[in-house]
Order: sequence, then structure tokens, then C-alpha cells
Amino acid sequence: MAQAKYTTHLGMVDILPDETRKWQALENLIRTEAEKFNFEEIRTPIMEQTELIVRGLGQLTDIVSKEIFAFSRGDDNYVLRPELTAPVVRSYVENHLDQRGGSQKLYYIGPMFRAERPQKGRQRQFHQFGVEVLGSDDAVADVEVISFMIQIYNKLGIKNTTLKINSIGDPESRDKYKEALKAYLKPNFDKLSELSKKRYEKNPLRILDSKEEEDKPFIESAPVITDYLNEASKSHYSKVKEYLTDVGILFEEDPYLVRGMDYYTQTAFELISPDLGAQDALAGGGRYDLLVEEIGGQPTPAVGFAAGMERLLIACDELGITLGDEKSVDVYIVTLGDAARRWGVSKLPELRANGHSATMDYMGRSMKAQMKDANRENASYAIIVGDNELNEGKFTFRNMKESEESSLSFDEILGKLGN
Ligand code: AMP
Repeated sequence: MAQAKYTTHLGMVDILPDETRKWQALENLIRTEAEKFNFEEIRTPIMEQTELIVRGLGQLTDIVSKEIFAFSRGDDNYVLRPELTAPVVRSYVENHLDQRGGSQKLYYIGPMFRAERPQKGRQRQFHQFGVEVLGSDDAVADVEVISFMIQIYNKLGIKNTTLKINSIGDPESRDKYKEALKAYLKPNFDKLSELSKKRYEKNPLRILDSKEEEDKPFIESAPVITDYLNEASKSHYSKVKEYLTDVGILFEEDPYLVRGMDYYTQTAFELISPDLGAQDALAGGGRYDLLVEEIGGQPTPAVGFAAGMERLLIACDELGITLGDEKSVDVYIVTLGDAARRWGVSKLPELRANGHSATMDYMGRSMKAQMKDANRENASYAIIVGDNELNEGKFTFRNMKESEESSLSFDEILGKLGN
């Protein structure tokens, strides 16, 4: 095959028809389950103001410092959204969603963009589904968000997962911990990676998330944040664990789990799959009680998660879980001659109006080739029509799976097909 002249950008892939059926099945499942949780869908633009993402996620995060696709047009700065928490919060503030009353329980599905080095399970355009609950500081909200996340994987049969949780506390607890962490790292400051050195003053917590080899020995025996939680933070964390136990969700506590964005407070969690290899994080999230205010809204506690859809589909493949139906069509009209072709074109809408999927040849192929095509399209039935059939008003109705044929009027065929 000739090399294509135009190709997709690095790390961006086409989702082709055989794949889209899987995606649709997954999206349907997410919507059905979201409805059960009384979550409502929100859709925001693909592009946001660069300042929102920088402010929301934090200047020193990997995403902002290395991975955003940003450009300007006139005086406006655009960024392709790398995640959806900050955009949802922007929308919440801009559209005064708090005035709808109660907590806002929102979910989303859509593409995100990060200029990472592509590898299996890591793309530059990828898809996430997620939930954001705004307006509640109750641990019930944390646990509902986690329950929804787990529910999607359980429903699909991806059960071999580990839920890791941690509390990174409120600002008071975190300030105390930051001091302790800095005091611990100080004697070895010179041995830290360049990136960690940069983060040391402004955001030492991010050092715990470092992937640099030279940082690892220091991270492994660092003080743990859970020893520095104040009463309020401790109490919230205990409730989250209590409710998780009540709903039967197993978890592992990981005191070094910090997550990739600066907006997190209190609860942080990640769902890991041993079936994914290097990129083993299926989903992650946590509380972000300060973000709404940071972006210009009233103080509003909030909690959410985001899950990678490509990674979920990879896990399904690894586990032999099939998603979505095979390609198929209910009826294929096979025609011989112009009059039959005209009849066929006029009957397609009737079949569809009766609730059946229906198609015919668009390429002027021979009858034999049309039958082959009907098989390839995985048609349940074929209606075979030529001049004789048209004269008699009786058509060959073939059950393709059983290889059985009968001669029927079009109304009889509709009757057989049922509704
Ligand atoms: P994050 O928004 O970084 O917390 O990521 C949430 C989830 O999105 C991760 O656990 C992954 O499953 C998925 N994800 C993040 N970045 C990528 C990427 N570049 N390619 C594919 N999936 C990703």
C-alpha cells in the first residue's frame, strides 16, 4: 500500500468504525450509570484560556510546564484542554451553577490534549470521562464519586484493580507537612533532580510525584503527610475510609500519593490496574476545596475524578472483555435490474420507518457480489428482487443465518421482521 501523504499528528489517532462501536458501548454504559447516580452531563469547549489552566493546575505541574498545546490568536491565548476539572469549575463560576441549588453533580466525556511522549496507553489526544461534585464538603460526596468510578470498571468486568487513597490535608496541615518535608530533604538538596530542586521552595509536595531516578531514594523514606493532618483533615479522611468500608470498596492507603495537579486538598485517590504495564493508572481524583475560589468564585468545596478511556479499553482487551456489538444490519436488499433497484431504493425508508436497519448496494454490483456484500455486512435477512418478483409482488426473503428462503409480499416481510 502506498504511504499516505497526510497523516495524523504524533500521539493522535483516528478511532475507526470497528473501534467506535466499543467507544459507543462504553459511552452508553457511562451515561446509564451516571443517570443512576443522578449525575448530569456537562459539555465545555475544547479550548480554554491559557491563564485558567495555568492558574488552576499550577505553574510547576508537568502538564502546565511541559505538556500544554497553547497558541495565541490576536490578543487571545488559547489552550487545548489538558483536563476538565478547571474548565468545569470555570463553567460553574461563569454560569452561576450554584444558583441551581444544592450540590452540582456533573459528569463529562470527551477528548483532552497533552504533549506527552506517546507510548502504549499514553497519547497526545486521549479521552476521559469523569465526575465533578461541587458544593459539598461531606465525605459522602467523596465516596459517591469513588463508587461511580469503580462501578464503571466493575460493570465491565475489570475487577482486578487497586484503589489507592491518601489525604493531603487542608492548607494548614499541608503547610506543616511541607516544612517537615523540606527539613528532611534539605541535607540532600544537592542530590535531588533539577526539577525537584526547582520545586523545593515553591511546591515541595510535587517532589513526591517525581519520576526522576535520583529522587527515588529520598522519596521512599520521606515523612508521611498523614502524620501531619490536623483534626478536621483527620476526621474527614476517617469518614471517607469508613464510608468506603460501608459500601464494600476495598482500598490501600498510600501516604505518598499526591497526584499531578496543585488544586487537590484532603482526599486523593488513584485506581491502578496490573493489566496495563507501565501506564498503569486507570483513573484518579480527589478533593479540590480551594479551586473554585482560586478561579474567582465563592469558596466552594468540591471533589471529582477523571478516568482514561483508552486505558480502560486496553484493559478490556488484555482481559478478553468484548465491548459493543459486531457490525450488522437487519436487512440487505439485493436487486437485479433497474426496476428492482428503483423498488429497493423506495423500500429502504419503509424498512427504517418500521424500526429496522436496512441497506443495499451502492456500487452497481452483480447479484452474486451483492450477496457476498450482504454476508460481509453481517445482514440478518436479504430481500432478493428482480423483474419476476416485481411482476408477482412476491420477493425472496432469505434468513442469512439459517440459509432459509421463502417467497413473500413486502407486507408479509414486514410482518416477519416484526417491530
Ligand atoms: P489525570 O487527569 O492526569 O489525573 O489523569 C486521569 C487519567 O487519565 C489517568 O489515570 C489516565 O488513565 C488518563 N490519562 C492521563 N493522561 C493520559 C494520556 N496522555 N494518554 C492516555 N490517557 C491518559
